[in-house]
Amino acid sequence: MARRSLLPLGLAAFAATRPARAETLVALEGAEVFDGERRIGRATILVADDVIRAIGPAASVTVPAGARRVDLAGRVVVPGLISAHSHVGNSGGAETGGRFYTRENVLDQLRQFAAYGVTTVTALGLGPAAFFDIREEVRRGGTGGADLLGAGMGVGVPDGTPPAAPMNLNDSQVARPNTPEEAREAIRMMARRRVDIVKLWVDDLGGTVPMMRPEIIVAATEEAHAQGLRVAAHIHDLEQARIVVQSGVDVVAHGVRDMPVDAALIAAMRQRGTWYIPTIQINEANYLYADRPELLSDPFFARALNAGLRAQFGDPEWRRKALEAAASSRQEVAVNQRNLKALHAAGVRIGFGTDSGATANRIPGFAEHRELELMVEAGLTPEEAMRCATGGSAALLGLEDRGLLRPGRRADLLVLDADPLADIRNVHRVRAVWQRGREVSGAIG
Ligand SMILES: [Zn+2]
Repeated sequence: MARRSLLPLGLAAFAATRPARAETLVALEGAEVFDGERRIGRATILVADDVIRAIGPAASVTVPAGARRVDLAGRVVVPGLISAHSHVGNSGGAETGGRFYTRENVLDQLRQFAAYGVTTVTALGLGPAAFFDIREEVRRGGTGGADLLGAGMGVGVPDGTPPAAPMNLNDSQVARPNTPEEAREAIRMMARRRVDIVKLWVDDLGGTVPMMRPEIIVAATEEAHAQGLRVAAHIHDLEQARIVVQSGVDVVAHGVRDMPVDAALIAAMRQRGTWYIPTIQINEANYLYADRPELLSDPFFARALNAGLRAQFGDPEWRRKALEAAASSRQEVAVNQRNLKALHAAGVRIGFGTDSGATANRIPGFAEHRELELMVEAGLTPEEAMRCATGGSAALLGLEDRGLLRPGRRADLLVLDADPLADIRNVHRVRAVWQRGREVSGAIG
């Protein structure tokens, strides 16, 4: 799934075969810039149509006479956030399930992601056939909202995870092969539909359902690699992480939450270059809104809520039950955070995702902002967390056309009123979201 930037070649071909067309040139001037890898100081960003033409100190960037100039003095510019683990179309109101997979709902959720600065969303499974049409429509442009990548259905376990009954899933959302050959066939079918990545659900949900058998994991992973696709695996426990890493999976798609990671896992991940997406917010979402009812009057949060969630979070009885059941989720957040810190310190590659959209309480856009805070709380610096969420996630997904503010890459960026590298919560202070060279939304709340 190496997605090389074809832009220079594309532009050359265009120039050779069509009459010259005026470019739209915009110069963003005066902002302090974090480019997705490092802070580069005050810079001019010259945008030509949907990509960055040049970026650097004002003295180094020539702004052509016809360019529109946008004064961003006092602001901070960072790349648009990239979620490598979300879902779309699987929730509506306060409910979860496959019946919510409609074009309108998916597009609404993608617009919400973009408004919160998440300009690329990877739907890591649960996508029925409609996913491919919607992805195509989003790519053509004009729908608004985050760019959509995804795994299509993803590969789960017969009578296992993802659990059909509690999640109200239907058969069009997940493939559940019984044999290695069926797993290979499922992957070949996904490759024909040009999925962006392959998703496997391995977890046995605390021993309550069968785990994905190791020979299925290996067959699916081998076939995916033969088709040029990367593989991300849903795990929960250390033992599952060990198995998927050993099987050659490219991305551990959730944090290890049952016990501390050990030296063997760290060594294997480092040696194989396996990526790790902690998704800390997945468990925090079970109690955060009950812990902090005052969030309901915070405009930054309120904008992310639909009427169903607003009613649920305001219901004292719901709140009482959520707090009663919160202990295990709090414990999992703590273990996940310690493991993130250990893996990051050991040099394991960390991506960014939250599982937003898989259930109704994992709220598109807001979840990503919480995840950044939780990563910093775990011990990463704000700059390290921002790196995971921009250049890191792009590298995890093999995207060479975005994630870093560099010439030739998409002009997907956030204009902020304050510096998130000084305090990660400043990433809330969105002044504007730009996507492919256009300002698409403003302040949140
Ligand atoms: Zn997920």
